[in-house]
Amino acid sequence: MSDPTRPTGPKIIAVANQKGGVGKTTTTINLGAALAELGLNVMIVDLDPQGNASTGLGVDSDHRKLTTYDLLLGDAALHDVVQPTSVEGLVIIPATTDLSSADIELFSSEKRSFLLHDALRQPAIDFFELDYILIDCPPSLSLLTVNGMVAAHSVLVPLQSEFFALEGLSQLMLTIREIRQTANSGLRIEGIVLTMYDSRNNLSLQVEKDARDNLGDLVFKTIIPRNVRVSEAPSFALSVLEYDSSSKGSQAYRALAQELAQRHGTILNIGRGEDG
Ligand code: ADP
Ligand code: MG
Repeated sequence: MSDPTRPTGPKIIAVANQKGGVGKTTTTINLGAALAELGLNVMIVDLDPQGNASTGLGVDSDHRKLTTYDLLLGDAALHDVVQPTSVEGLVIIPATTDLSSADIELFSSEKRSFLLHDALRQPAIDFFELDYILIDCPPSLSLLTVNGMVAAHSVLVPLQSEFFALEGLSQLMLTIREIRQTANSGLRIEGIVLTMYDSRNNLSLQVEKDARDNLGDLVFKTIIPRNVRVSEAPSFALSVLEYDSSSKGSQAYRALAQELAQRHGTILNIGRGEDG
């Protein structure tokens, strides 16, 4: 609370797009790792029953006794659900398939959209001295994603550089507008990040042009290229930054972290482990 570098607590960003396979989990993991590399403290909330972020960061199922599900239901405290990852400075609240029943179980609860919001605002969260919380949302606009957006300050939208990429965006924007009107009036759009970009492919160029023409400054300058090292890293339970530090994918996620942190004024000018 008294730490002047963290006057307002962690920035909470929901990584969301109701399309599957657009790079939400990949962006959550590697942006998280890149922010941690800058010396920032980051927590990922795995809000997808598939648990890909948990697996990709080396939290195997034996270490998922307590998960996001238990946190949402109020059955577990923050300290008991937060796990270390393979990345220094990055912790995670893991998920399992349990979470897929949360939509139904929470339906009757009056505060059903606020469960993650309330969980992340327990005083105990201060213990972790976080700069960022990244929420990896499932590929739907279900109650889980709504919980993510109600808990967040902003939404970061990965957009796959392929045909029809922009199609689902209007539905996503409608959902964001609804949440602003009902539960979270301050919810901002953090930005749209183009993923799996292939500069040799005319389609990628066209999607970028359409996105920048229509969405202007909302589109991050940084573009994430399609890079095989990015897709290989999770099977080694590593972020791409650790798996292949000099790869194109690592460079891109570092640039994205810089762009984001610069906007927020959270650059500390000390890389983790550089000089003590
Ligand atoms: P989502 O979470 O939106 O469903 P993922 O992050 O799981 O999407 O990505 C879908 C697939 O695309 C995964 O197999 C992932 O490894 C792959 N992928 C994501 N980003 C890249 C990239 N920049 N280059 C190559 N493959 C990628
Ligand atoms: Mg995912």
